[in-house]
Amino acid sequence: MGVSIEQVLQGGTSFLKQKGLRFPRQEAEILLAFLLGRERPYLYAHGEEKVAPELEKTYKKILQRRGARIPLAYITGKKEFMGLGFSVNKNVLIPRPETEHLVEAVIAWGKKFYAQSEQKETLKILDLGTGCGNIAVALAHYLPFSFVTGVDLKKEAVELACQNAQNVGVNKRTRFLCGDFWEPLVPGEDTFNVIVSNPPYIPREELFTLSPEVQNEPRLALDGGPDGLTAYRHIFDNVQKFLTCPGLLAVEIGDKQAKNIWEMSSRLAFLRNIEIIKDYAGISRVISGSTI
Ligand code: GLN
Repeated sequence: MGVSIEQVLQGGTSFLKQKGLRFPRQEAEILLAFLLGRERPYLYAHGEEKVAPELEKTYKKILQRRGARIPLAYITGKKEFMGLGFSVNKNVLIPRPETEHLVEAVIAWGKKFYAQSEQKETLKILDLGTGCGNIAVALAHYLPFSFVTGVDLKKEAVELACQNAQNVGVNKRTRFLCGDFWEPLVPGEDTFNVIVSNPPYIPREELFTLSPEVQNEPRLALDGGPDGLTAYRHIFDNVQKFLTCPGLLAVEIGDKQAKNIWEMSSRLAFLRNIEIIKDYAGISRVISGSTI
C-alpha cells in the first residue's frame, strides 16, 4: 500500500511547477531527500520504495511552504558556504556564493600577513553584521592562526553564529557579540588586523523588486537605507579607530555601488592599494584597501 518515492516526487514536481518555480523537479527531490534524511542519489536508486503516509503528509506541508516562496535553505535549515555546512533560519540572510570572493580575498591577505609576521602573532579579524557567521566561521576555519570576532544586532543571529562555529569546530577561535556594528567594541582596546563586512546594501526603494524568496529574508540584512550606502558610511567613518597597521578593510558591495564606495575608500588617507574584485557575473563585488 501507499505511494512510491517516484510517485511522490512526480506529485511534488507538478505542484512546484504550478507554483512557478524554475527548478521544480530538483527542488522536489531536495525536499524529499531532506525529509527522508538521505542524499538525493538515494531517491534514484529506491524509486519503487513506498513512502509512509505520515511522511507524505509532511512532504505536502513543506511543498506548500516552498510554494509560498519560503527559501529552500530556510526549509532544510542548511546552506553550504566555502565548502562548509551552515545552519540557517529566518533570522539571518542565507549565505550567497558571491560572498566567497570576499572571504577568498581576506584569506589571501591573511596568509601573506602571517608569512611576513616575525612573531607569528594571531591575526585578529572583525566581521560586522555576521548573520549566521558564515564569513567569520569560514575565515577562522581557513586561517588557523586567526581569532575572529563577529558582531550582529540580532540576538538570534549571534546564537546561530555560535552554533555554526561549534559545528565547524572553530568555537575556541571565534567570539560573537550582540550590538549595532561598532557599538559592542571599545576603540583603542579592540583593534583588528582585518575588518570585513557584507552589510545591507540594497537601496530601500529597490527592496520590493527583489525575488519573493529574497523578500522573505530579514529586511535588516538587506535594507541599505535610501541610497543603499548607509552601512558603508557607518563603517568608513569609524574604521580608523579599530584597524591596525598593517591592516585590511574588505567589504562586499552591490551592483553599481563601486564608484561611490571607491570614493569613500579613497577619502581615507590611511587606506592604500584599493582594489575592486569582480564576481563571476562580471559585477564589482568586493572593495578592499590596506593600511600599507
Ligand atoms: N547579495 C544580497 C542579495 O542578493 C544582498 C546582501 C546584502 O544586502 N548584503 O540580495
